[in-house]
Order: sequence, then C-alpha cells, then structure tokens
Amino acid sequence: MLIVQKYGGSSVANTERIFNVANRIIDTVKEGNEVVVVLSAQGDTTDDLIAKAAEIDPNASRREMDMLLSTGEQQSVALMAMAINKLGYRAISLNAAQVGISTSSAYSNAKIRSIRKSRIERELSRGYIVIVTGFQGVNKYDDVTTLGRGGSDTSAVALASALHADLCEIYTDVEGIYTADPRVVKNARKLDYISHDEMVELATLGAKVLHNRSVEVAKKYNVELVVRSSLTKAEGTLVKGDTKMEKVLVSGVASDKDISRITVMGLSDQPGEAFKLFSLLDKAGICVDIIIQSLGRKSKKDISFTVSKQDLPMTLETLEKNKDRLGFAEVSHDDNVAKLSIVGAGMATNSGVASLMFEALFDAGVNISMISTSEIKISVLIDEKDVERGMIAVHDKFNLAESNYRRD
Ligand code: ADP
Ligand code: ASP
Ligand code: MG
Repeated sequence: MLIVQKYGGSSVANTERIFNVANRIIDTVKEGNEVVVVLSAQGDTTDDLIAKAAEIDPNASRREMDMLLSTGEQQSVALMAMAINKLGYRAISLNAAQVGISTSSAYSNAKIRSIRKSRIERELSRGYIVIVTGFQGVNKYDDVTTLGRGGSDTSAVALASALHADLCEIYTDVEGIYTADPRVVKNARKLDYISHDEMVELATLGAKVLHNRSVEVAKKYNVELVVRSSLTKAEGTLVKGDTKMEKVLVSGVASDKDISRITVMGLSDQPGEAFKLFSLLDKAGICVDIIIQSLGRKSKKDISFTVSKQDLPMTLETLEKNKDRLGFAEVSHDDNVAKLSIVGAGMATNSGVASLMFEALFDAGVNISMISTSEIKISVLIDEKDVERGMIAVHDKFNLAESNYRRD
C-alpha cells in the first residue's frame, strides 16, 4: 500500500517525539508499505514565529509572513529525515518547491492548485521514505505561500489524492474526532466515523482537529481519511461519505473564539442599504459570517454581523472610510464573543433540535445574542467567557457522551 501519514506539531514537538514518530514510520515501512510523510512545524513554532514578526511589524506583509512561517515546517522535515536515517532507514526531506506543490497567489491563505508527482515517485522508487513540508506551497511568482493555520492536514490529503495513495492518516494528540473538543468536554465520545459534510461543518465552526479544506479535498477526490493518535495504537476516526448517518440529528458540538461582532447603527431603513454595506466589505476581502438586522424604527435600522478577529481592524477601517456613503450614525464592536455550534446531518427536518439547544443554554444561564441556522448546523453567538460552560451544557443535553442524538 501507499500511505500518506501526517503528523501535527505536538507529535514532533521535541527530539523524543521525533524519534517516536520516526519509529512509527519505520514500522509502517516494515509492514511492506511505501510511506510519504507530511509534517507540521514543531510544537508552538508557528505561534512563536508570528510573535517574533509582530515585534518588528504587526502589519508585516503577508508575503514576508509566509516566507517566515514556512521555515517551521522545513525544520521538522529535515530533523525527521535525520532521525530516520539515524535509525538505519533511508529518508529524504523535501519542501514544497522541491515537490512542486503549486498554489494560488493568496499569501497566508493559498489554495493548492496542483502537485507534481515525479520527484516523490522517483524517491519512492529508489526506496526512500519521503518527508514533505506541510502548510506550504509555491505560487506563480515562485514565492512561498502558506495554506492558512492548520493547513498541513490539507497538504497531506492533497498529496494522498495526487499520488493515488490507498490511505491518508492524520496523526495528532487526541485519539480521533470526538463529539466535542475532549479538552473542554471531558466526557466527549470518540466517533468511529463521521461523514465528510458533518466534518467540514465542525472544522469550519472551530473544531480544529482537521483543517476544513482537507475534508473538502478528501470528499472531492475520494481519499480514505483517518484521524488517530501518534502516541497510542488506538483506532481512530474514519471520515467518509456515508449515508448510514441519516438519522443522526446531532453528531458534534464545536466552538470558535476567533470572532468579533460589529454593529452598524442608524442606517436608513430603505432598500439597498445591506447591499451597499456588504458589497463594500466583500470588496475589501472581508468574510462576514452571522448577520442580523433590526426591524426599522423611525426610518432607521441597525445591522450586526460577525467577522474573524483578524479582520476586525480592516472592517472598522472600511466602515469609517465609507461613513458618508453608508450614512450610518455609529459603529460599535465586541471582541469578547464566541460562536457555539451543533452539527448533524439529520437536523434539517427537525425543529426540536434548536429548542433543545436553547433550553440547554438557558438552563446554564448563557445569554444568546445572535442565531444562525443551516441544513446541518445551528450556531449561536454568546459571551466568550460562557463558551466552555455552554459547550458542556449542550453536549449533556443531547446526551452525546452516550450516543449520537437520533430521532425516536
Ligand atoms: P495538530 O498539531 O496535530 O494538527 P491540532 O491542535 O491542530 O493538532 O488539533 C488537535 C486538537 O483539536 C486536539 O488537541 C483537540 O483539543 C482539538 N479539537 C477540537 N475539537 C475536536 C474534536 N471534535 N475532536 C477532537 N479534537 C478536537
Ligand atoms: N504549522 C502550521 C500551523 O501551526 C500548520 C499546521 O500545523 O497544520 O498552523
Ligand atoms: Mg492541526
């Protein structure tokens, strides 16, 4: 079999962990497999590099940020190849330019466009274990790009797809995908499997165990994807496109603190105002999430919406610059908010799910300031300080520790 294994930052955080992973890779080879390994930067390296850059310029260009952040992954792959060589096996490390991982131009959030296979295939045929940098690519200007935080998962799945690998294993510091973040909800339950669509939602809504785009790629190209622990032998969670989960109303809870709420007050209550506002934000490249608009009063109305924390300064700047054009009275914003969401494929046809979620939050004394629903998820905006408590309350209410919440 050809297997792509990805190991996250905590799995390669220090020398002992590197040798632990090296031995696991060698074991896979001994079982008769060809192995391509994708690595993240060690431990908190990426955060440390971001902090280092901020000391020089908090608004440094995205191009230079990518040049800097990509070095973390390059350290890991070289160290891993050294460890495997030291253990008597042949390994070679390659970065994205050497492999030929081409991406879009968007620095810090690039999308993989294509992967050249020839170099990896050549090294495999020479009997090498190939160790590839996650998270990075190269754009049409021959510049280094990165795929967004957590993007090594996507590197691994894209490589598995390009190489027609039989399996893509994502090794991390928990034993699989749980009904909620097991670090927050102590009785969260490990899932044997989860559908692509549900996992895309959970990942997008804050469950960072997988990068959301990695799941989209796995779905599109039919990659067999498993999440498991690099520290135990436990079986992980299979992410698959299944229909057996039809009856599951709620399969998981996720939260996201990377959110700011903005309220634009005193807009004219006439057609076209929302269009003007959101098209301006769109042009500035700002991604808006939940939106609510108040009912008009005295020919005025307010619109509130959420953006990621990173986009807050740019959003405020764009609004201020266009104050006359938009004709609002004032803008307020709140950084201390979080989004709490439940996800389940069977939710669309069952209104009882929403009321049960709201009841759980009411019982826990958690105030809801915004609500947004789609076919397979319900999200609420709450105070950041309430998010852990809210998550536990909702998880308990649906009894997710015992089983997936189903219709009777
Ligand atoms: P890696 O460095 O291996 O990529 P991450 O920190 O990106 O690891 O992702 C693993 C973390 O995701 C876990 O330590 C866990 O706290 C968190 N997490 C959030 N939601 C979930 C979930 N539903 N199931 C499992 N882990 C989750
Ligand atoms: N090192 C990068 C990050 O911390 C990519 C990854 O870990 O997947 O976001
Ligand atoms: Mg990750």
